[in-house]
Amino acid sequence: MTAPVATAELPFFPADLFEDDREHLLRIVHEVAADPAQKFILGPHTARLEAALREQLGAADVVACGSGTSGLTLVLAALGIGPGDEVVVPAFGCAPLASTVVALGAVPVFADVDPLTMVVDPDAMERRITSRTRALMPAHIFSVMADLPRIRPLAEQYRLRLVEDSAVAQGGVLDGVPAGLAGEAGVYSFVQVKTFGMAGEGGVVVTRDAEVGRTVRMLRNHGQDGRTRFLHHRIGWNSRFDEVLAAFQLHRLPGLAARLERRARIAERYAEAFADLAGHGVLAPPPGREGRCYYVYTLLAERRDALQAHLAEHGIGSHAYYPLPLPRQAAFARYTTAGDDWPAAQRAAERALSIPIYPHLTDPDVERIVDAVRRFASA
Ligand SMILES: *Cc1c(COP(=O)(O)O)cnc(C)c1O
Repeated sequence: MTAPVATAELPFFPADLFEDDREHLLRIVHEVAADPAQKFILGPHTARLEAALREQLGAADVVACGSGTSGLTLVLAALGIGPGDEVVVPAFGCAPLASTVVALGAVPVFADVDPLTMVVDPDAMERRITSRTRALMPAHIFSVMADLPRIRPLAEQYRLRLVEDSAVAQGGVLDGVPAGLAGEAGVYSFVQVKTFGMAGEGGVVVTRDAEVGRTVRMLRNHGQDGRTRFLHHRIGWNSRFDEVLAAFQLHRLPGLAARLERRARIAERYAEAFADLAGHGVLAPPPGREGRCYYVYTLLAERRDALQAHLAEHGIGSHAYYPLPLPRQAAFARYTTAGDDWPAAQRAAERALSIPIYPHLTDPDVERIVDAVRRFASA
């Protein structure tokens, strides 16, 4: 074992993400707390945040809600997904892809992923379509956007609803279409670690369909229409947005583009430095800007656990996301049938290792990570 290097630890996610904005956060807390209006949820800050994102994206509507997960639930409900319906989702990814479907009484049907990019394979999605299928729900994962240019025609051909789990892909653009707007609706999560993360829970639904936006607005607040209280047009949820956090996000929004650019630059350096490691058991994700969202940067390593241990020895944090494919999770196993198989999802679960890519990594930090990965691969 090599001796740990005597430099500061580089965590996978740093604890000082909001350091520069802390003073401002405290000022906002004071302002909202002291405001005579005493409006703490769904007030003017939330409306301004929704309007700012709507304009930036050219969306028909942006609806702030309690989390990315509840945003997905509201979208599926707004599109009428319910008991007996099947929704085709990726076999590799995070739990809300399946749990939001189950929460509505519908059935998640798992499609295998692409072995290199780890996004859902459109051909596998098509093979999982049955007479009960009502929607396709691809997800962008790590740094790669799902293949919407191939999935959208599938949805049209089979007359299915198309929901994009774009929770991690804010800022990503594919074929000129911002993440979340290729289908009928998408979501962005603002949980701390996401690219537009914040100091609390929340997210938005983004949609190019004003009617879907209207319905989601109703569903996030117990089925009320925002005009008359205690008139419930539909059975809804409580998925409302906090005014302090809305003001915090409005403050952080102008800096988002620069933070995303820094992430993309770090990814460029990684892509260049890791391009020749494929023959050494370490595969880097596809490079470039088109259809990319640099939320996390994920390698596929034949000796994943050894690489993670090696990085830890060098003071570098890493993260093995999703150690089990969704259909292999105890929670979702009942939605599979004997003999079903997702070989690429299984390999991804065994090999994926994400390394730091947060915007305030310095160039020397990045070189330290590059060196550590390269030394492992060439050992
Ligand atoms: C983070 C995430 C979610 C959930 O967002 P929350 O705000 O944590 O509820 C959903 N889907 C994907 C792909 C995510 O990464």
